[in-house]
Amino acid sequence: MTISIHGLAVSRGIAIGRAVIVASSRVDVAHYFVQADQVASEIERLRQARNAVAEEIVKVQQSLQELGPNDAHPELTALLDVHLMLLQDEQLTSGVKHWIVDRHYNAEWALTTQLEVIARQFDEMEDPYLRERKADLEQVVERMLRFMRGVASPVAPGEQGKPNQDSPAEVPLVLIAHDLSPADMLQFKQSVFAGFVTDVGGKTSHTAIVARSMDIPAVVGARSSSQLIKQDDWVIIDGDAGVVLVDPSPILLAEYGFKQRQGEVERERLSRLKHTPAVTLDGQKIELLANIEQPEDAAAALKAGAVGVGLFRSEFLFMGRSGKLPDEEEQYQAYRRAVEGMQGLPVTIRTVDVGADKPLDRGASRAGDDHLNPALGLRAIRWSLSEPSMFLAQLRAILRAAAHGPVHMLIPMLAHASEIRQTLVLVNRAREQLDNSGMAYGHIKLGAMIEVPAAALTIPLFLRYFDFLSIGTNDLIQYTLAIDRADEAVSHLYDPVHPAVLQLLASTIEQCRAKGKGVSVCGEMAGDVSLTRLLLGLGLRSFSMHPSQILAVKQQILRCDTSRLQTWAQSVLAAEDPAALMTD
Ligand code: PEP
Ligand code: MG
Repeated sequence: MTISIHGLAVSRGIAIGRAVIVASSRVDVAHYFVQADQVASEIERLRQARNAVAEEIVKVQQSLQELGPNDAHPELTALLDVHLMLLQDEQLTSGVKHWIVDRHYNAEWALTTQLEVIARQFDEMEDPYLRERKADLEQVVERMLRFMRGVASPVAPGEQGKPNQDSPAEVPLVLIAHDLSPADMLQFKQSVFAGFVTDVGGKTSHTAIVARSMDIPAVVGARSSSQLIKQDDWVIIDGDAGVVLVDPSPILLAEYGFKQRQGEVERERLSRLKHTPAVTLDGQKIELLANIEQPEDAAAALKAGAVGVGLFRSEFLFMGRSGKLPDEEEQYQAYRRAVEGMQGLPVTIRTVDVGADKPLDRGASRAGDDHLNPALGLRAIRWSLSEPSMFLAQLRAILRAAAHGPVHMLIPMLAHASEIRQTLVLVNRAREQLDNSGMAYGHIKLGAMIEVPAAALTIPLFLRYFDFLSIGTNDLIQYTLAIDRADEAVSHLYDPVHPAVLQLLASTIEQCRAKGKGVSVCGEMAGDVSLTRLLLGLGLRSFSMHPSQILAVKQQILRCDTSRLQTWAQSVLAAEDPAALMTD
């Protein structure tokens, strides 16, 4: 029977595939396909891991016996027996083989997939003793994974297999997880998955943002999806409607298959706009920039016809590093790759914005965060100013990258004049340090993000110090409406066209334009085609969004006449319920 689960639509399109349930703690395991002739060596790696762990356990048992009967810890000996038994368990070994042989999963992926299958069976057991054996199984698998980590896969990255439509074993796969951190999502960027579903998360959570940048269908906040969906279930993800259909009927499969093909035709049609200049009917030139997370995303930005990068979220270089943050040289190389990748077009590098729903490491995830209220805590520029030597290293790296092409530097989350002044002092100090060491660096334009209401209400202060402003609507909405952007429980209150948000946006744009300073929007509003007319009507001429959204927004721009939109936008701005006027 088909079950439908409702969540939040975060990334467009339809994905149809088999479910891969991934426990949040297992996402750092590599997921790739092996070629048919590599299947035997993957099984051999597993066999070696199993034997090595068994040997380890036997050694511990022997050393316990040598302690003599008084110190032998009978419970521990019994537990080790259980571990040995689990290791040899037929369901584990034959199940893992199945994923490798029939599905061509790499060994680690096969092992964690089978762990999920068995763990669910343990969860359903009535007997509490047996239920608790799940933790033992997890320990055994963790030991095998640890062993395999030390023994590199013979499958080099370039030799990995691709899903093959002809093989029933390699149908598209969709990933189902309780939660994924933004860093986890990034790991999946080059992955085999055709779509994502998570139980938690809001529409503009950073996890959703990365899903969108991957341009594959995704639904977040789908509550208990990771419990309701089983490994290998057929699943349809409707990323436009925010619906997940589990075990769909043949009629539904046909209907969604048709929608999927229609989407592909639409994309193909849009791709013809790549070289068309973004100019409105009344001749207004609009700047369409790309948001990127990694230097390698520059290629997608160019492919979509972006005229530059409006937001490089540099924090993705800092996440998932187990505390070992990238040094100046590593950052310089990454920024330089982005600059060179954009082939002479400007790159706006935002200084690190960690904290809130972007923890540096998975261990410090939201729930376990030791800050009471991380979104209001030590985040973005606040964190940078509290770590001046780290910040100086980043500033130097950005300045050095500017020697290779046009670079703008963007500072996140500023709210206080003192923060602005401290930042400028550090930028100057970074220049002096480079002068002293004789390192080459380039000229940068310096910009501030407007994403805290306090900043939006003191624009003249910002215009005094900065060359340009960029409005981060994701946070501006979060902080104006007191709605945690990553919490699906309040996502219905997260309203981009709330009158308060629109007023802050409109007045920021207007003041920048009056002073002849550049202003863009780089939050998710910029890539939302249903808001393009409104933003144009409010005077916005520069939009920064995921490369995947650029052509659809451009199509909308080509149909607009800004002189007409201006009056309409003013009426939206004055309305008690602006959303009601949005379809006019
Ligand atoms: C924003 O807040 O709108 C923004 C672009 O920054 P981030 O989404 O990375 O917080
Ligand atoms: Mg922000």
